[in-house]
Parts: sequence; C-alpha cells; structure tokens
Amino acid sequence: MSQAPAHRLDVALGERSYPIHIGPGLTARGDLIREHLAGRQVMIVTNTVVAPLYLEALKASLGEGLDVREVILEDGEQTKHMASIGLIWDALLEAGFNRRCTLIALGGGVIGDMTGFAAACYQRGAAFIQVPTTLLSQVDSSVGGKTGVNHPRGKNMLGAFWQPRLVLIDTSSLKTLPVRELSAGMAEVIKYGLLWDESFLCWLEDNMDALMGLNETLLGEAIRRSCAIKAEVVAEDETEQGVRALLNLGHTFGHAIETDQGYGVWLHGEAVGTGMLMAAELSAHMGWLSSTDVERVTRIIDRAGLPVAVPENMGVEDFLRHMQLDKKNVDGRLRLILLEHVGRAVITEKVPASMLNEMLEHWPR
Ligand code: NAD
Ligand code: MG
Repeated sequence: MSQAPAHRLDVALGERSYPIHIGPGLTARGDLIREHLAGRQVMIVTNTVVAPLYLEALKASLGEGLDVREVILEDGEQTKHMASIGLIWDALLEAGFNRRCTLIALGGGVIGDMTGFAAACYQRGAAFIQVPTTLLSQVDSSVGGKTGVNHPRGKNMLGAFWQPRLVLIDTSSLKTLPVRELSAGMAEVIKYGLLWDESFLCWLEDNMDALMGLNETLLGEAIRRSCAIKAEVVAEDETEQGVRALLNLGHTFGHAIETDQGYGVWLHGEAVGTGMLMAAELSAHMGWLSSTDVERVTRIIDRAGLPVAVPENMGVEDFLRHMQLDKKNVDGRLRLILLEHVGRAVITEKVPASMLNEMLEHWPR
C-alpha cells in the first residue's frame, strides 16, 4: 500500500535537477527510492545511533532484486574525517560495486555530508540519495549539494559539490530526535524566514509551540517552506558566487562561538540562533532594524529553545579573532550578512569596525 507523499518539491539545476519528498512515514516508501537508483547495487551509509532506529525499515522497503549493503559508522562530528570516507570506499570496493551503484545516506548532516563526498569521488562519481533524519539535515544540509569532511585545521575543508538524485524526508523520524537537536534545526528554519520571507516568519511565530511539540503536519509544512527557500537560492547560485552567501546569516558570529567554545559544546544551530540575534542587533546599530524588530527576533529564537546570550567567557577579542579566520571573508575585509529588514538579508562590507566593537562590548553575557 502506498500513499502519495505529502509534499514534493523540485530543485531546478538543469540536468542535475532532483525531487525532494516530504511527509510522514516516508522511510517505508522504497518505491520512491527505487526509481532513482542507478542500478541494482545499493550501499546504505548510516551510524550506530540511526541504524537501530531506521535501517531495517529502509532496507525492507527497498524490496527484492537489489544487492543492498550497509556501512555503519561511529556517531558524531568527530567521525567526519577522511578515515571514515576510506571506510565507505573500502566497503564499496569489497562489495565489488561499480560506477552504477547508488549510495544512500541515512542519518543527520554528518552522514549526509560524508556519504555525498564518498559518492562524488567513487569511480569519479556515483549516484547518491539523501534520507536525512535530523531537522537540520532535512532543512539544510541535504539540499544544495555541498558535501565534505573536516580536516584537523578546519571544518568542511575538504569536499565537493555533488547533487543527490533524490531527497526523501520522513517527518516521523523527528520523533526520536533529542529535543536539543530539534531546537538546533529550528534555528536554520527561523533563518529562512528572517533572510528571505517575512510571511514564513509570521507563520513560524503562529506555530512555534506546536512545531516544538512535534505536530507532524506543521513540521512537514515548515520543512517544505524551508527547503523551497534553500532550493530557490541554490538554483540561483549553485556554487556560492553571490546570493547563496545569504544562507550564512548568523553564521559568522555563530562560528566564532562554536570555535571558541570547542566544537560540540554549542551545537551548530544553537550558535547560529545566537549569531542571528547578534546580526539583528548590529542591523539595528546600522539603523536598518528597530528595537521592536530585535525583540521579535529574540522572542522567536527563545521560543525555539535556543540560547539568547553569548558565553560569559567570550570577550570582544575572542569574537574578533575567530571572525577574522572565517573563510567567508574575502581579501581580509569583514563581510557580514545583516538584515535590511525582517525578511530581507544583505551582504555588506559597510559596517565600521568601531560599530562592531561597540555591539560586541554591550552584548548581554
Ligand atoms: P548529526 O548528523 O551529528 O546528528 C545529530 C545527532 O542526532 C547525532 O548523534 C545523530 O546520530 C543523531 N540522530 C540523527 N537522526 C536521528 C533521529 N532521527 N533520532 C535520534 N537521533 C538521531 O548533526 P546534524 O545537525 O544533523 O548535522 C550537522 C552536520 O551537517 C555538520 O557536520 C555540518 O557541517 C553539516 N552541514 C552541512 C551542510 C551542507 O550544506 N552540506 C549544511 C549544514 C550543516
Ligand atoms: Mg548552518
């Protein structure tokens, strides 16, 4: 028995266009996956946390007649390095898989980024399907084709643009997600409203409590609208020459917090939430937002269960040091993504250093 997925979106990238299906129970919809397989050989890549929850269901739904193998990696951001990619390649070669195999990423952003990168290089490019299981990966990392791993000297320093053939988003998988991870993903959802679509932000304000309470219909709608915005931005600027940079709203400050505190102490989404507030505050210093706008941003971040104060031990110097290292700064100039108004982000190099200092000094800790 198969029911139609609740939502379907298409990412328009010419020959590399692909669909995103969003709805409850889609892990059981192997038929949606089968039509995108390159051949009979399938390698599912997942981890020790997600495998016991969803691997059997996914395998069962793929049905008969396929050669399905699996790689189960350790959990966590600290596994996102070349050695794990090596394990995926080893498994593919040991299985004797050829270039018409398909890799399926079953897990959060860590699994998705690694699987995509392994696929991009395997025999010069193998097919790849995303089955993201965290809110963050459903609204962000599974869409857009950025794949890669960390290097001891920097996050996401090795990678490739490699688009999936399909993204299958099962909203039911969020039921097992720790609430802190749900909040972290919600930061990126809020980001889309702030940077692109004020009506979406209004909708989030109306529905945040129900979303955090895991109302699946509303979560499906929030994911659909988030993916639609990301897909629109990516279709305009696949390799981040221009408008795609707006998706980094809150990320320059966020990365500073993440790096300063040590990776994993603050979740990425938590740091982005606070980072967006800092961007809003600086936008107010520029005269672009009112204090009411800043309060509005604070309130929605807070309602998503995200922190609204920076770590007590982080001073102005710490921020500046980390922000200068940000790889998004072109030619050493400070490029920031701020809000022209709620619902419209801009890339600007106009912020005077003194204004940034002033904002950082007075930020509540
Ligand atoms: P994650 O993959 O580490 O997942 C978070 C935790 O939740 C992990 O412990 C995971 O095993 C567990 N988990 C996953 N699904 C679950 C479920 N349904 N139930 C219970 N537990 C579950 O982290 P994430 O936040 O999904 O992704 C973060 C990664 O994504 C980072 O490495 C980041 O660099 C990357 N990222 C990439 C892009 C991109 O464009 N490619 C964009 C944003 C983030
Ligand atoms: Mg992010």
